[in-house]
Amino acid sequence: MQNQTIKLTKWFRIRGSHRIAGISGQCSKTHGHDWRIGVIVDGPLHNELLTIADTEQIKAAFWAIFDSNDHVDWNERLGCENASTEAIAVFIRGQLGVSAISHILCGVIVEESDGLTVEVAVR
Ligand SMILES: [Zn+2]
Repeated sequence: MQNQTIKLTKWFRIRGSHRIAGISGQCSKTHGHDWRIGVIVDGPLHNELLTIADTEQIKAAFWAIFDSNDHVDWNERLGCENASTEAIAVFIRGQLGVSAISHILCGVIVEESDGLTVEVAVR
């Protein structure tokens, strides 16, 4: 069992608003989502703990990005007019990439409430 690499995804939920000013349609206007964020880590199974990661460490790394900021204005946070879900995913991946879980980070999934999902792989 020790030689298997296992992926673990810890899901989070954040609320916020964004707009993608450069495209046509409703997404060009400011609107809200209830985003689900998946933080994917991988690694070998620990011999005694039989897990690959401490989920409390993943939670701490994730919430360090957002503090208690429950309603994120993504255009403001990213400093751009086109705060796409892809841009949000790349931002979160970048933040986690310099966090305490960077050595086990495998990817980030951002799912909009309408079912649009973006995944950014680390490696
Ligand atoms: Zn949207």
